[in-house]
Amino acid sequence: MAKGRVAIVVERCKACGFCVEFCPTKVLALSSAFNSKGYHPPHVVEPEKCSGCDLCGMYCPDFAIYGYRTPVQKSEEPKAEAKEVSNEG
Ligand code: SF4
Ligand code: SF4
Repeated sequence: MAKGRVAIVVERCKACGFCVEFCPTKVLALSSAFNSKGYHPPHVVEPEKCSGCDLCGMYCPDFAIYGYRTPVQKSEEPKAEAKEVSNEG
């Protein structure tokens, strides 16, 4: 399970490739799609490998990407007790 996620602001990217190169777990690759400036922004190819270390964000000269850690979920559903209160009668 992924421990982190990466967010990409596609329109800010200038396709320098630093994020792709410096990601320690090779989460990213430059996409074949273009943004409106004509650059190929990165996309996520191995989402499970992202640790949320934010190295990509530290290297990006254009603040177009950042990583963040996600809390580890132990169970699918939160343990909220459902109490139905009825005021009828
Ligand atoms: S480091 Fe930033 S500008 Fe360079 S390719 Fe990655 S997201 Fe785009
Ligand atoms: S946050 Fe770290 S592991 Fe995730 S894509 Fe960025 S550099 Fe790679």
